[in-house]
Amino acid sequence: MADELQHFDQRRTVSELGRQMLSRGLTTGTGGNISEGVGDDTVAISPSGMAYDEIEPADVPVVNFDCETVVGDREPSSEIAMHTTVHRERDDVGGVVHTHSPYATTFASIAEPIPASHYLIAFVGDKVPVADYTTYGTEELAELAIETLGDEYNACLLKNHGVLAVGEDTEAAFEVALMTEYCARIHYQALNVGEPALLPDEEIDTLIERFADYGQTN
Ligand code: 13P
Ligand code: ZN
Repeated sequence: MADELQHFDQRRTVSELGRQMLSRGLTTGTGGNISEGVGDDTVAISPSGMAYDEIEPADVPVVNFDCETVVGDREPSSEIAMHTTVHRERDDVGGVVHTHSPYATTFASIAEPIPASHYLIAFVGDKVPVADYTTYGTEELAELAIETLGDEYNACLLKNHGVLAVGEDTEAAFEVALMTEYCARIHYQALNVGEPALLPDEEIDTLIERFADYGQTN
C-alpha cells in the first residue's frame, strides 16, 4: 500500500483536530500536539513544529512505543515520549491531546490544581491535578505526566507549560481538553468575583456515574 494511505483514517483525524485545536483557541502557533492509537502498539502523532493549517494526513507520522517512526517521513512531535507513555500505560486511552490553552495554563503557571467549582470537572476527575515542571520533550516529563494522571484522571496540568488530556479516542481527549479549559476559565472568573463554592467529593462520584450514560449513549 502507498505510504500515504497507510492508517489514513487515524492520520486524518490527527490533522483535522490540529486545525480545530488552533481555531478553538486551545493553543497558539505550533504549540501542542495530538496522537491517536493505531492498533496495540503504534500511534499516529502530529509532526513537530508544523503550522496546523498545513498538516495533511500524509504529514502525520506513525510511531511505535520505542519512539521509532514506522510510517511517514516527517519528524514526530517532540512530546513523542509523553504520548507513547500514556498510550502504553493506560489501557482505556486511545487518544491524547496536549494543549497550551490560556486559562488552564494560567493555573499551570501558578502550580494550582483546578478544583471542582463547576460540575463539568467530572469529565476529568475530582480536580485537574498538576504535574511538576521539567523541560518539554523529555522522558522525565513523560514520567511526571503519567504519574500525575494515574489511573483516575483524564487530564492534568503541566506546570509552567500547558494541559495533557486523554480519552478513549482523540475526539474524546479533545472534548476533555475543551472541558478543562472551560472549567479553568469559570474558576478564574469565580475567583475574581468571590469565593468559589466547591462541589463535595460524593457529588463528583455521582457525576462520573451519570456521565457514563449521558446523552445518546444507546
Ligand atoms: P511539537 O511541535 O514538537 O509537537 O512541540 C510543541 C509543544 O507543545 C511542546 O511541548
Ligand atoms: Zn507543549
